Amino acid sequence: MIRLQWLGHSCLLFDADGTRIVIDPFLTGNPTAPIKAADLKPDFILISHGHNDHVGDAVELARRSGAIVVTNYEIGNWLEEKHKLTRIHGMQHGGGYNFPFGRVKLTLALHGSALPDGSNGGNPCGFLITFKDGKKVYDAADTGLFGDMKLIGEEGLDLALLPIGDYYTMGLDDAVRAVKLLAPKRVVPIHFNTFPPIRQDAMAWAERVRRETACEPVVMKPGDWLDL
Ligand SMILES: [Zn+2]
Repeated sequence: MIRLQWLGHSCLLFDADGTRIVIDPFLTGNPTAPIKAADLKPDFILISHGHNDHVGDAVELARRSGAIVVTNYEIGNWLEEKHKLTRIHGMQHGGGYNFPFGRVKLTLALHGSALPDGSNGGNPCGFLITFKDGKKVYDAADTGLFGDMKLIGEEGLDLALLPIGDYYTMGLDDAVRAVKLLAPKRVVPIHFNTFPPIRQDAMAWAERVRRETACEPVVMKPGDWLDL
Protein backbone atom coordinates (compact mmCIF):
# COMPACT_ATOMS: atom_id res chain seq x y z
CA MET A 1 0.00 0.00 0.00
CA ILE A 2 1.35 3.41 -0.98
CA ARG A 3 0.39 6.57 0.84
CA LEU A 4 1.40 10.15 0.21
CA GLN A 5 1.61 12.93 2.77
CA TRP A 6 2.01 16.51 1.59
CA LEU A 7 4.35 18.37 3.93
CA GLY A 8 3.80 21.79 2.40
CA HIS A 9 5.57 23.51 -0.52
CA SER A 10 7.21 20.74 -2.63
CA CYS A 11 7.93 18.41 0.26
CA LEU A 12 6.34 14.98 -0.18
CA LEU A 13 6.50 11.89 1.96
CA PHE A 14 5.66 8.54 0.38
CA ASP A 15 5.12 5.50 2.54
CA ALA A 16 5.47 2.48 0.24
CA ASP A 17 4.75 -0.61 2.31
CA GLY A 18 6.78 0.85 5.15
CA THR A 19 9.62 2.34 3.07
CA ARG A 20 9.66 6.09 3.60
CA ILE A 21 10.69 8.27 0.69
CA VAL A 22 10.92 12.03 1.20
CA ILE A 23 11.16 14.43 -1.72
CA ASP A 24 12.53 17.97 -1.37
CA PRO A 25 12.60 18.09 2.45
CA PHE A 26 12.08 21.79 3.13
CA LEU A 27 10.64 21.96 6.65
CA THR A 28 12.89 24.32 8.60
CA GLY A 29 11.94 27.81 7.46
CA ASN A 30 8.82 26.65 5.68
CA PRO A 31 5.90 28.52 7.29
CA THR A 32 3.40 25.89 6.08
CA ALA A 33 5.30 22.79 7.27
CA PRO A 34 3.00 20.64 9.46
CA ILE A 35 5.90 18.78 11.13
CA LYS A 36 9.54 19.37 11.98
CA ALA A 37 12.47 17.80 10.14
CA ALA A 38 13.31 16.00 13.39
CA ASP A 39 9.99 14.10 13.09
CA LEU A 40 11.09 12.45 9.84
CA LYS A 41 13.04 9.25 9.55
CA PRO A 42 13.29 8.55 5.84
CA ASP A 43 14.88 5.60 4.08
CA PHE A 44 15.34 7.61 0.87
CA ILE A 45 15.63 11.33 0.17
CA LEU A 46 15.05 12.66 -3.36
CA ILE A 47 16.25 16.16 -4.23
CA SER A 48 15.01 17.78 -7.45
CA HIS A 49 17.36 20.78 -7.59
CA GLY A 50 19.77 22.90 -5.61
CA HIS A 51 17.57 25.71 -4.30
CA ASN A 52 17.24 26.09 -0.57
CA ASP A 53 13.48 25.46 -0.56
CA HIS A 54 14.21 21.95 -1.95
CA VAL A 55 17.61 20.92 -0.54
CA GLY A 56 16.31 22.33 2.76
CA ASP A 57 16.91 19.89 5.60
CA ALA A 58 18.31 17.15 3.34
CA VAL A 59 21.90 17.17 4.60
CA GLU A 60 20.93 17.07 8.28
CA LEU A 61 18.22 14.50 7.59
CA ALA A 62 20.51 12.22 5.57
CA ARG A 63 23.20 12.41 8.22
CA ARG A 64 20.82 11.57 11.05
CA SER A 65 18.76 8.87 9.32
CA GLY A 66 21.40 7.33 7.07
CA ALA A 67 18.92 7.61 4.21
CA ILE A 68 20.05 7.05 0.63
CA VAL A 69 19.95 10.30 -1.37
CA VAL A 70 18.78 10.27 -4.99
CA THR A 71 19.50 13.41 -6.97
CA ASN A 72 21.44 14.66 -9.99
CA TYR A 73 25.15 14.05 -10.46
CA GLU A 74 26.30 17.55 -9.45
CA ILE A 75 24.24 17.75 -6.27
CA GLY A 76 25.39 14.22 -5.49
CA ASN A 77 29.02 15.35 -5.74
CA TRP A 78 28.33 18.39 -3.57
CA LEU A 79 26.77 16.22 -0.86
CA GLU A 80 29.72 13.88 -1.01
CA GLU A 81 32.53 16.44 -1.12
CA LYS A 82 31.15 19.29 0.98
CA HIS A 83 29.02 17.35 3.43
CA LYS A 84 30.78 13.98 3.47
CA LEU A 85 27.64 12.00 2.83
CA THR A 86 28.32 8.59 1.32
CA ARG A 87 25.00 6.94 0.43
CA ILE A 88 24.23 8.82 -2.77
CA HIS A 89 22.86 8.11 -6.23
CA GLY A 90 23.87 11.01 -8.48
CA MET A 91 21.88 10.32 -11.63
CA GLN A 92 21.03 12.30 -14.75
CA HIS A 93 17.99 13.18 -16.85
CA GLY A 94 16.42 10.32 -18.74
CA GLY A 95 18.24 7.81 -16.57
CA GLY A 96 16.48 5.54 -14.12
CA TYR A 97 17.44 3.05 -11.45
CA ASN A 98 15.63 0.25 -9.68
CA PHE A 99 15.50 0.83 -5.94
CA PRO A 100 13.90 -1.67 -3.52
CA PHE A 101 10.63 0.32 -3.51
CA GLY A 102 10.50 0.86 -7.28
CA ARG A 103 12.12 2.65 -10.20
CA VAL A 104 13.06 6.33 -10.16
CA LYS A 105 13.72 8.16 -13.42
CA LEU A 106 14.91 11.75 -13.61
CA THR A 107 12.82 13.91 -15.92
CA LEU A 108 13.29 17.38 -17.40
CA ALA A 109 12.45 20.53 -15.51
CA LEU A 110 12.72 24.14 -16.66
CA HIS A 111 14.18 25.95 -13.68
CA GLY A 112 17.51 26.84 -11.98
CA SER A 113 19.57 24.68 -9.63
CA ALA A 114 22.32 26.72 -7.95
CA LEU A 115 23.10 25.31 -4.52
CA PRO A 116 22.71 27.40 -1.32
CA ASP A 117 26.47 28.15 -1.17
CA GLY A 118 26.59 29.09 -4.86
CA SER A 119 28.01 25.74 -6.02
CA ASN A 120 26.94 24.34 -9.37
CA GLY A 121 23.82 22.24 -8.80
CA GLY A 122 23.65 20.90 -12.36
CA ASN A 123 20.26 20.92 -14.03
CA PRO A 124 16.96 20.69 -12.15
CA CYS A 125 14.84 17.59 -12.51
CA GLY A 126 11.47 16.07 -11.82
CA PHE A 127 10.88 12.45 -10.82
CA LEU A 128 8.95 9.64 -12.44
CA ILE A 129 8.50 6.93 -9.83
CA THR A 130 7.18 3.50 -10.71
CA PHE A 131 6.39 1.78 -7.44
CA LYS A 132 6.73 -1.97 -7.10
CA ASP A 133 2.95 -2.47 -7.34
CA GLY A 134 2.99 -0.71 -10.74
CA LYS A 135 1.63 2.68 -9.61
CA LYS A 136 3.22 5.55 -11.53
CA VAL A 137 3.73 8.94 -9.96
CA TYR A 138 5.22 12.01 -11.62
CA ASP A 139 6.52 14.80 -9.41
CA ALA A 140 7.20 17.73 -11.74
CA ALA A 141 8.96 19.61 -8.90
CA ASP A 142 9.77 23.21 -9.93
CA THR A 143 9.24 23.75 -13.61
CA GLY A 144 7.57 25.78 -16.30
CA LEU A 145 5.31 24.07 -18.82
CA PHE A 146 7.10 22.03 -21.51
CA GLY A 147 5.73 20.04 -24.44
CA ASP A 148 7.60 16.85 -23.55
CA MET A 149 5.22 16.40 -20.64
CA LYS A 150 3.23 14.56 -23.30
CA LEU A 151 5.99 11.91 -23.41
CA ILE A 152 5.88 11.53 -19.65
CA GLY A 153 2.10 11.19 -19.86
CA GLU A 154 2.49 8.30 -22.32
CA GLU A 155 3.83 6.27 -19.39
CA GLY A 156 0.27 6.19 -17.98
CA LEU A 157 0.29 8.17 -14.75
CA ASP A 158 -1.77 7.36 -11.70
CA LEU A 159 -0.82 10.63 -10.05
CA ALA A 160 0.91 13.87 -11.00
CA LEU A 161 2.20 16.50 -8.58
CA LEU A 162 2.32 19.88 -10.27
CA PRO A 163 3.45 23.30 -9.11
CA ILE A 164 0.76 25.95 -9.52
CA GLY A 165 2.31 28.88 -7.64
CA ASP A 166 3.33 30.96 -10.68
CA TYR A 167 6.27 33.42 -10.40
CA TYR A 168 8.98 30.70 -10.05
CA THR A 169 7.07 27.88 -11.79
CA MET A 170 3.97 27.21 -13.84
CA GLY A 171 0.95 29.19 -12.81
CA LEU A 172 -2.71 28.22 -12.92
CA ASP A 173 -3.23 28.40 -16.71
CA ASP A 174 -0.09 26.45 -17.64
CA ALA A 175 -0.72 23.89 -14.90
CA VAL A 176 -4.11 23.14 -16.50
CA ARG A 177 -2.32 22.72 -19.85
CA ALA A 178 0.17 20.42 -18.12
CA VAL A 179 -2.69 18.23 -16.88
CA LYS A 180 -3.92 17.97 -20.49
CA LEU A 181 -0.46 16.87 -21.70
CA LEU A 182 0.17 14.44 -18.84
CA ALA A 183 -3.37 13.03 -18.60
CA PRO A 184 -2.85 11.55 -15.12
CA LYS A 185 -5.72 9.87 -13.28
CA ARG A 186 -5.30 12.29 -10.38
CA VAL A 187 -3.38 15.52 -9.84
CA VAL A 188 -2.25 17.26 -6.65
CA PRO A 189 -1.16 20.92 -6.76
CA ILE A 190 2.04 21.86 -4.89
CA HIS A 191 4.44 24.83 -4.59
CA PHE A 192 1.79 27.43 -3.73
CA ASN A 193 0.78 29.53 -0.68
CA THR A 194 4.16 29.09 1.03
CA PHE A 195 5.18 32.70 0.41
CA PRO A 196 3.27 35.80 -0.80
CA PRO A 197 4.49 35.73 -4.46
CA ILE A 198 3.11 32.20 -4.97
CA ARG A 199 -0.27 32.67 -3.31
CA GLN A 200 -2.92 30.93 -5.43
CA ASP A 201 -6.54 29.79 -5.28
CA ALA A 202 -6.03 26.02 -5.60
CA MET A 203 -9.76 25.33 -5.34
CA ALA A 204 -10.50 27.52 -8.37
CA TRP A 205 -7.71 25.71 -10.26
CA ALA A 206 -9.14 22.33 -9.28
CA GLU A 207 -12.54 23.44 -10.56
CA ARG A 208 -10.99 24.20 -13.96
CA VAL A 209 -9.19 20.84 -14.04
CA ARG A 210 -12.50 19.12 -13.31
CA ARG A 211 -14.29 21.08 -16.03
CA GLU A 212 -11.65 20.89 -18.76
CA THR A 213 -10.03 17.47 -18.28
CA ALA A 214 -10.87 13.88 -17.30
CA CYS A 215 -8.39 14.07 -14.42
CA GLU A 216 -9.49 14.17 -10.78
CA PRO A 217 -7.86 17.06 -8.88
CA VAL A 218 -7.08 16.51 -5.20
CA VAL A 219 -6.33 19.67 -3.22
CA MET A 220 -4.49 18.67 -0.05
CA LYS A 221 -3.68 20.69 3.05
CA PRO A 222 -0.16 20.40 4.47
CA GLY A 223 -0.16 17.30 6.64
CA ASP A 224 -2.97 15.54 4.70
CA TRP A 225 -2.55 11.94 3.54
CA LEU A 226 -3.68 10.44 0.25
CA ASP A 227 -3.90 6.71 -0.53
CA LEU A 228 -2.63 5.89 -4.01
ZN1 LIG B 1 10.97 25.88 -5.28
